[in-house]
Amino acid sequence: MTLLDGKATAKKHKARIAEETFALKAKGITPGLAVVIVGGDPASRQYVDNKKKDCAQCGIYSEEHALPGDCDQAHLLALLDGLNRRADIHGILVQLPLPKHLDEKRVLLAIDPAKDVDAFHPFNVGRIMIGDYDFAPCTPAGVMALLDEYDIPVEGKTCVVVGRSNIVGKPQAMLLLHRHGTVTLCHSRTRDLGALTRTADILVAAVGREGLITADMVKEGAAVVDVAMNRSAEGKWVGDVRFDEVAGKAAYLTPVPGGVGPMTRVMLLWNTLKAAKQRADQ
Ligand code: NAP
Repeated sequence: MTLLDGKATAKKHKARIAEETFALKAKGITPGLAVVIVGGDPASRQYVDNKKKDCAQCGIYSEEHALPGDCDQAHLLALLDGLNRRADIHGILVQLPLPKHLDEKRVLLAIDPAKDVDAFHPFNVGRIMIGDYDFAPCTPAGVMALLDEYDIPVEGKTCVVVGRSNIVGKPQAMLLLHRHGTVTLCHSRTRDLGALTRTADILVAAVGREGLITADMVKEGAAVVDVAMNRSAEGKWVGDVRFDEVAGKAAYLTPVPGGVGPMTRVMLLWNTLKAAKQRADQ
């Protein structure tokens, strides 16, 4: 079994991003990312800190806008409007989830689609659907980049995605489809999940349920990508896939942590760089 090493792959990507950022800076353009965080959720805080660190490592300018947990929607929308207008900010990201009193849909709609580096704006979601997009959501894009790194072909392969969220499962299915995979998308109402996952040459698990994918649900020689990040009873990060048993059956398998997570982070940098380049071309 070959480990799909997201950490090592992300490092290679970061080196390329840093090079391209350097070249863009030589033309007088510094890619800029604005990250908006509302409230003090510790997980969100950690994600935002990581994003800022990644940007700094690659020469991308980043700034944080931290709003109190009880901030009103008008204030947040006004902030986004200001960021949309700024020429030095090419990417805008609102860290989700937002506090319950804020209308997440409305907030995402307020981001200029050309700066929507998370690709959550309905305009960009629609573009992914038709296969004509500038930004793909970071996690599914990270999965594709990991498959590419290990030369795992998608065309003509049977691909099964477990989980149909708007940010992972659905766009993942579309990205695999655009690469000519034959895709099945599973969810909580799927009957006989194992019968479907056993058909997969490429299996992507994105549920958030520790131990869901057992060895008997995996085809011999499959590429298995575990997107999930669950806290085990011992406080460790684990995925949906039972790593030890599936490792004996899969040809390729991601570790958790160190698989999809680092790739997700790196895709945000690519999207920010792309947004800056597009601005430069205009
Ligand atoms: P989500 O919004 O909670 O979606 C989970 C999906 O799993 C839903 O579509 C749900 O089906 C489906 N599901 C639930 N129980 C199932 C079952 N028994 N069998 C089959 N499908 C089932 O989660 P998400 O945001 O997509 O995230 C999924 C996991 O990925 C989480 O562990 C999250 O932490 C992780 N994640 C990791 C990264 C990363 O960078 N590594 C990024 C994002 C998310 P229904 O639609 O029918 O409810």
